[in-house]
Amino acid sequence: MAIINCPSCNQKTSDKAKVCANCQYDFVSKSTSEGFTKEQLTSKKHLAHIKKKYSLQMQAMTGIILVLLGASLWYFGGRGFATVSDMLKLGLLAIGAAWYLVTRVRLIMFKKGN
Ligand SMILES: [Zn+2]
Repeated sequence: MAIINCPSCNQKTSDKAKVCANCQYDFVSKSTSEGFTKEQLTSKKHLAHIKKKYSLQMQAMTGIILVLLGASLWYFGGRGFATVSDMLKLGLLAIGAAWYLVTRVRLIMFKKGN
């Protein structure tokens, strides 16, 4: 919870409040229906969509990096299956692969939903 200044009376009030405790200024209707035009709301939604897609793509990239990191650490680290270190490297690879797959599915679902 944050403290903001009321745009109407400039008194300190909670940002979670629907109306100003001091002057009854209506934050909810002012910020949603009056504060923005329909075009602005649509572009905000569009922007959120792009951001979400970008975030998912970044997560997919992180998965690929983990796979490459785990694979190269294992490959150049002796290619064994016996030590804890080998298991950790292969684990990193597996986590990266799982992460990538989950993110790919989320991206597909996201694209279908829009
Ligand atoms: Zn106020």
